Amino acid sequence: MSFTGRKHSPETILRMSAAQKGRIISPEHRDRIRKTLTGRKASPETRKRLRESMRLRPHSVWEKMGDTTKGVPKSKDHKRKISEALRGKKKSIEHRKHMSEATKGCASRYTRTKEINEKMRQSIIRRMQTHPGPFKDTSIEVAVRKGLEDRGIGFYQQHNICGRMVDFMIPQGMVVVECDGCYWHCCPICRKHTKDERIVSRVTRKDKERTGVLVRAGYVVVRFWGHEIKSDVQSCIDKIEEAMVKNESTTR
Ligand SMILES: [Zn+2]
Repeated sequence: MSFTGRKHSPETILRMSAAQKGRIISPEHRDRIRKTLTGRKASPETRKRLRESMRLRPHSVWEKMGDTTKGVPKSKDHKRKISEALRGKKKSIEHRKHMSEATKGCASRYTRTKEINEKMRQSIIRRMQTHPGPFKDTSIEVAVRKGLEDRGIGFYQQHNICGRMVDFMIPQGMVVVECDGCYWHCCPICRKHTKDERIVSRVTRKDKERTGVLVRAGYVVVRFWGHEIKSDVQSCIDKIEEAMVKNESTTR
Protein backbone atom coordinates (compact mmCIF):
# COMPACT_ATOMS: atom_id res chain seq x y z
CA MET A 1 0.00 0.00 0.00
CA SER A 2 1.43 3.27 -1.04
CA PHE A 3 0.81 6.56 0.71
CA THR A 4 2.25 8.73 -2.00
CA GLY A 5 -0.14 11.36 -3.19
CA ARG A 6 -2.58 10.71 -0.37
CA LYS A 7 -3.59 13.56 1.82
CA HIS A 8 -4.63 13.46 5.45
CA SER A 9 -7.96 14.87 6.44
CA PRO A 10 -7.93 18.00 8.60
CA GLU A 11 -9.02 15.94 11.63
CA THR A 12 -6.17 13.49 11.14
CA ILE A 13 -3.67 16.34 10.85
CA LEU A 14 -4.94 17.78 14.13
CA ARG A 15 -4.72 14.36 15.79
CA MET A 16 -1.21 13.85 14.46
CA SER A 17 -0.02 17.21 15.64
CA ALA A 18 -1.53 16.57 19.10
CA ALA A 19 0.34 13.26 19.28
CA GLN A 20 3.61 15.00 18.32
CA LYS A 21 3.25 17.65 20.98
CA GLY A 22 5.72 17.32 23.81
CA ARG A 23 7.56 14.51 22.04
CA ILE A 24 11.27 14.65 22.35
CA ILE A 25 13.18 13.93 19.18
CA SER A 26 16.49 12.15 19.66
CA PRO A 27 19.58 13.77 18.16
CA GLU A 28 19.89 10.88 15.69
CA HIS A 29 16.33 11.31 14.56
CA ARG A 30 16.84 15.03 14.26
CA ASP A 31 19.90 14.35 12.14
CA ARG A 32 17.95 12.03 9.87
CA ILE A 33 15.22 14.62 9.42
CA ARG A 34 17.81 17.23 8.61
CA LYS A 35 19.45 14.95 6.05
CA THR A 36 16.22 14.24 4.21
CA LEU A 37 15.31 17.92 4.22
CA THR A 38 18.65 19.37 3.06
CA GLY A 39 18.54 20.53 -0.49
CA ARG A 40 14.76 20.57 -0.56
CA LYS A 41 13.12 23.84 -1.30
CA ALA A 42 9.80 24.79 0.16
CA SER A 43 7.28 26.31 -2.19
CA PRO A 44 6.44 29.99 -1.69
CA GLU A 45 3.10 29.05 -0.12
CA THR A 46 4.74 26.66 2.34
CA ARG A 47 7.30 29.28 3.25
CA LYS A 48 4.56 31.76 3.90
CA ARG A 49 2.76 29.23 6.08
CA LEU A 50 5.96 28.48 7.98
CA ARG A 51 6.60 32.14 8.53
CA GLU A 52 3.10 32.63 9.92
CA SER A 53 3.40 29.65 12.26
CA MET A 54 6.80 30.86 13.49
CA ARG A 55 5.30 34.20 14.31
CA LEU A 56 2.65 32.60 16.47
CA ARG A 57 5.10 30.64 18.58
CA PRO A 58 5.26 31.57 22.23
CA HIS A 59 8.49 33.06 23.48
CA SER A 60 9.35 29.97 25.53
CA VAL A 61 9.66 27.93 22.33
CA TRP A 62 12.21 30.38 20.99
CA GLU A 63 14.15 30.12 24.22
CA LYS A 64 14.22 26.33 23.96
CA MET A 65 15.42 26.58 20.39
CA GLY A 66 18.14 28.93 21.54
CA ASP A 67 19.29 26.26 24.00
CA THR A 68 19.59 23.57 21.36
CA THR A 69 21.54 25.77 18.96
CA LYS A 70 23.77 27.35 21.59
CA GLY A 71 27.43 26.65 21.02
CA VAL A 72 26.82 24.84 17.73
CA PRO A 73 29.26 26.30 15.22
CA LYS A 74 27.62 27.85 12.16
CA SER A 75 28.92 27.14 8.69
CA LYS A 76 30.26 30.00 6.57
CA ASP A 77 27.23 29.75 4.33
CA HIS A 78 24.89 29.93 7.29
CA LYS A 79 26.70 32.98 8.66
CA ARG A 80 26.51 34.69 5.28
CA LYS A 81 22.78 33.98 5.09
CA ILE A 82 22.22 35.46 8.53
CA SER A 83 24.24 38.54 7.72
CA GLU A 84 22.34 39.00 4.46
CA ALA A 85 19.01 38.64 6.18
CA LEU A 86 19.98 41.19 8.82
CA ARG A 87 21.46 43.73 6.44
CA GLY A 88 19.74 47.06 6.59
CA LYS A 89 17.46 45.95 9.41
CA LYS A 90 17.19 48.24 12.36
CA LYS A 91 16.57 47.07 15.86
CA SER A 92 13.83 48.79 17.79
CA ILE A 93 14.73 50.66 20.95
CA GLU A 94 12.94 48.03 23.04
CA HIS A 95 14.90 45.27 21.39
CA ARG A 96 18.16 47.10 21.95
CA LYS A 97 17.28 47.67 25.59
CA HIS A 98 16.46 44.01 25.92
CA MET A 99 19.80 43.02 24.38
CA SER A 100 21.71 45.38 26.61
CA GLU A 101 19.95 43.92 29.67
CA ALA A 102 20.69 40.38 28.51
CA THR A 103 24.39 41.01 28.05
CA LYS A 104 24.82 42.92 31.29
CA GLY A 105 27.34 41.27 33.55
CA CYS A 106 28.55 39.02 30.74
CA ALA A 107 31.57 41.21 30.11
CA SER A 108 34.00 38.32 30.29
CA ARG A 109 32.25 36.60 27.40
CA TYR A 110 32.74 39.61 25.20
CA THR A 111 36.23 40.64 26.21
CA ARG A 112 38.32 40.81 23.08
CA THR A 113 41.48 38.82 22.86
CA LYS A 114 44.72 40.43 21.74
CA GLU A 115 44.45 38.78 18.33
CA ILE A 116 40.95 40.13 17.77
CA ASN A 117 42.07 43.59 18.84
CA GLU A 118 44.94 43.39 16.39
CA LYS A 119 42.58 42.16 13.64
CA MET A 120 40.21 45.05 14.28
CA ARG A 121 43.08 47.52 14.24
CA GLN A 122 44.32 46.15 10.94
CA SER A 123 40.86 46.35 9.39
CA ILE A 124 40.55 49.98 10.47
CA ILE A 125 43.91 50.74 8.89
CA ARG A 126 42.88 48.99 5.68
CA ARG A 127 39.66 50.99 5.61
CA MET A 128 41.55 54.21 6.11
CA GLN A 129 44.02 53.34 3.39
CA THR A 130 41.37 52.35 0.87
CA HIS A 131 39.11 55.30 1.68
CA PRO A 132 41.46 58.13 2.49
CA GLY A 133 39.65 61.17 3.81
CA PRO A 134 37.76 63.39 4.01
CA PHE A 135 38.28 62.97 7.72
CA LYS A 136 36.09 64.76 10.10
CA ASP A 137 38.46 67.02 11.97
CA THR A 138 37.70 67.97 15.49
CA SER A 139 37.57 71.67 16.30
CA ILE A 140 40.94 71.48 18.06
CA GLU A 141 42.53 69.86 15.00
CA VAL A 142 41.10 72.60 12.81
CA ALA A 143 42.63 75.22 15.11
CA VAL A 144 46.07 73.58 14.98
CA ARG A 145 45.87 73.16 11.21
CA LYS A 146 45.12 76.85 10.77
CA GLY A 147 47.96 77.76 13.12
CA LEU A 148 50.42 75.62 11.14
CA GLU A 149 49.22 77.00 7.83
CA ASP A 150 49.54 80.58 9.08
CA ARG A 151 53.20 80.01 9.89
CA GLY A 152 53.86 78.21 6.62
CA ILE A 153 54.77 74.91 8.27
CA GLY A 154 54.37 71.93 5.93
CA PHE A 155 52.47 68.99 7.39
CA TYR A 156 50.47 65.88 6.67
CA GLN A 157 47.16 65.53 8.45
CA GLN A 158 45.84 62.12 9.56
CA HIS A 159 49.08 60.44 8.62
CA ASN A 160 49.78 56.73 9.00
CA ILE A 161 52.94 55.92 10.94
CA CYS A 162 53.60 52.27 11.79
CA GLY A 163 49.91 51.52 11.53
CA ARG A 164 48.92 54.43 13.76
CA MET A 165 46.97 57.39 12.51
CA VAL A 166 48.50 60.53 13.89
CA ASP A 167 46.79 63.91 13.83
CA PHE A 168 49.70 65.80 12.23
CA MET A 169 53.08 64.78 10.91
CA ILE A 170 55.59 67.50 10.18
CA PRO A 171 58.43 66.18 7.98
CA GLN A 172 60.77 69.00 9.00
CA GLY A 173 62.35 67.68 12.19
CA MET A 174 60.06 64.61 12.11
CA VAL A 175 57.54 65.96 14.58
CA VAL A 176 54.24 64.29 15.33
CA VAL A 177 51.52 66.46 16.83
CA GLU A 178 48.69 64.81 18.69
CA CYS A 179 45.63 66.77 19.74
CA ASP A 180 44.05 64.95 22.65
CA GLY A 181 40.46 65.88 23.32
CA CYS A 182 40.01 66.48 27.05
CA TYR A 183 37.02 64.18 27.26
CA TRP A 184 38.20 61.16 25.27
CA HIS A 185 41.76 61.24 26.51
CA CYS A 186 40.80 61.81 30.15
CA CYS A 187 42.48 65.16 30.73
CA PRO A 188 43.50 65.32 34.40
CA ILE A 189 42.94 69.09 34.55
CA CYS A 190 39.47 69.43 33.07
CA ARG A 191 38.19 66.16 34.57
CA LYS A 192 35.11 66.13 32.36
CA HIS A 193 35.72 62.51 31.59
CA THR A 194 34.43 59.35 33.16
CA LYS A 195 35.06 58.68 36.84
CA ASP A 196 35.84 55.05 36.09
CA GLU A 197 39.50 54.75 37.04
CA ARG A 198 39.92 51.57 34.99
CA ILE A 199 38.96 53.40 31.80
CA VAL A 200 41.16 56.38 32.69
CA SER A 201 44.19 54.17 33.27
CA ARG A 202 43.52 52.24 30.06
CA VAL A 203 43.29 55.43 28.00
CA THR A 204 46.45 56.83 29.58
CA ARG A 205 48.31 53.58 29.01
CA LYS A 206 47.23 53.45 25.35
CA ASP A 207 48.36 57.03 24.74
CA LYS A 208 51.72 56.21 26.34
CA GLU A 209 52.08 53.11 24.19
CA ARG A 210 51.33 55.16 21.08
CA THR A 211 53.93 57.73 21.99
CA GLY A 212 56.45 54.92 22.58
CA VAL A 213 55.87 53.42 19.12
CA LEU A 214 56.28 56.80 17.45
CA VAL A 215 59.41 57.68 19.41
CA ARG A 216 60.97 54.34 18.52
CA ALA A 217 60.20 55.13 14.86
CA GLY A 218 62.33 58.26 15.25
CA TYR A 219 59.67 60.92 15.76
CA VAL A 220 59.37 63.62 18.35
CA VAL A 221 55.88 63.55 19.76
CA VAL A 222 54.22 66.74 20.91
CA ARG A 223 50.89 66.24 22.65
CA PHE A 224 48.41 68.95 23.44
CA TRP A 225 45.28 68.82 25.49
CA GLY A 226 42.12 70.21 23.98
CA HIS A 227 41.96 72.95 26.60
CA GLU A 228 45.53 74.06 25.80
CA ILE A 229 44.69 74.42 22.11
CA LYS A 230 41.41 76.15 22.84
CA SER A 231 42.96 78.68 25.22
CA ASP A 232 46.12 79.50 23.25
CA VAL A 233 46.87 77.98 19.86
CA GLN A 234 49.82 80.26 19.21
CA SER A 235 51.83 78.99 22.16
CA CYS A 236 51.08 75.43 21.00
CA ILE A 237 52.48 76.27 17.56
CA ASP A 238 55.50 77.84 19.30
CA LYS A 239 56.14 74.54 21.06
CA ILE A 240 55.82 72.66 17.76
CA GLU A 241 58.37 74.97 16.13
CA GLU A 242 60.69 74.51 19.09
CA ALA A 243 60.47 70.72 18.74
CA MET A 244 61.06 70.98 14.99
CA VAL A 245 64.22 73.03 15.39
CA LYS A 246 65.51 70.94 18.28
CA ASN A 247 65.01 67.58 16.56
CA GLU A 248 66.40 68.82 13.27
CA SER A 249 69.61 69.95 14.96
CA THR A 250 70.03 66.64 16.81
CA THR A 251 69.39 64.43 13.80
CA ARG A 252 71.82 66.33 11.60
ZN1 LIG B 1 41.64 69.53 29.52
